[in-house]
Amino acid sequence: RCADVAMYQAKTHGENLHFYDASMDANSTRRLTILADLGVAIRSNQLQLHYQPRIDLATGACNGCEALLRWVHPEQGMIPPGDFIPLAEMTEMIHPLSLWVLREALRQVRCWLDEGKEIAVAVNLSARNLIDVRCPALIQSLLHEFGVPNHLLEIEITESALITDPERALQVVQSFHDLGLHLAIDDFGTGYSSMSYLKRLPIQTLKVDRSFVKEMLTDEADAVIVRSTIGLAHSFGLNVVAEGVEDEATLQALCNLQCEQAQGYHISRPIPAAEFDAWYLQRRGN
Ligand code: C2E
Ligand code: MG
Ligand code: MG
Ligand code: MG
Repeated sequence: RCADVAMYQAKTHGENLHFYDASMDANSTRRLTILADLGVAIRSNQLQLHYQPRIDLATGACNGCEALLRWVHPEQGMIPPGDFIPLAEMTEMIHPLSLWVLREALRQVRCWLDEGKEIAVAVNLSARNLIDVRCPALIQSLLHEFGVPNHLLEIEITESALITDPERALQVVQSFHDLGLHLAIDDFGTGYSSMSYLKRLPIQTLKVDRSFVKEMLTDEADAVIVRSTIGLAHSFGLNVVAEGVEDEATLQALCNLQCEQAQGYHISRPIPAAEFDAWYLQRRGN
């Protein structure tokens, strides 16, 4: 295992070096501008959360959603998370950013509770958050502040976020578990290692990456990966969320495979809270 971890760390390092090489071109200016603007964005209401519903395949009910960050830049318009989160992740900027996301998501869950709706929210955390030993206490104080029961907050982590400092990440993840937070491995199957985490981490859920779900009906290799992941998860007593479900036939196939939950454009795109409320009411038949 040690040798594996060392190899993965070397690989990650390699990627970072590659990034620094690449940043010596014209793009670096844009990147620096984005990072500088992001500090302003956090303080001046340019950030928003969109919520993507997640449904229970057995009942069709929606009990949870994933909070996804959006940045409406005053000059550049909507900047997708893929264009600024990786940059923030390379600096300390990810800390205020994740704090903003957690606070906003919990504020929203509080609103839903006040309206009599118990909806869990899943928040994506980054590698730097996972090696920050202050993170669990910070989250606990936010949950207190909003009076949100701990089980309504889910934390999504990726396999690659765990390899920067596996021991420290394990300690933080264990603290999340001790707080009663729900933990999911995101983009499962696309990271470096998988099996050792299944054994060591106190998680409840695997999210099958959408790259496998997308063509599971036409590509046999993808079908095998989705089927095996569901089987593997169930063997470990975990439940499975399929991401990126884009049509009814895929939804049905996942249901037949005993996949517990699904998320995707076929169910709903990520939407602002007001639209989410309308979607939710219609779904419940009210
Ligand atoms: P993710 O956590 O795997 O989130 C799922 C992504 O898949 C979202 O992209 C979502 O809009 C997209 N998606 C959902 N259903 C479908 C579908 O049926 N088809 C297709 N083609 N795409 C679908 P988004 O919002 O652009 O976010 C991309 C990634 O950015 C996220 O991947 C996550 O890794 C990261 N991210 C987003 N918000 C946050 C955040 O608040 N904090 C952190 N650390 N990362 C975030
Ligand atoms: Mg996610
Ligand atoms: Mg994902
Ligand atoms: Mg993904």
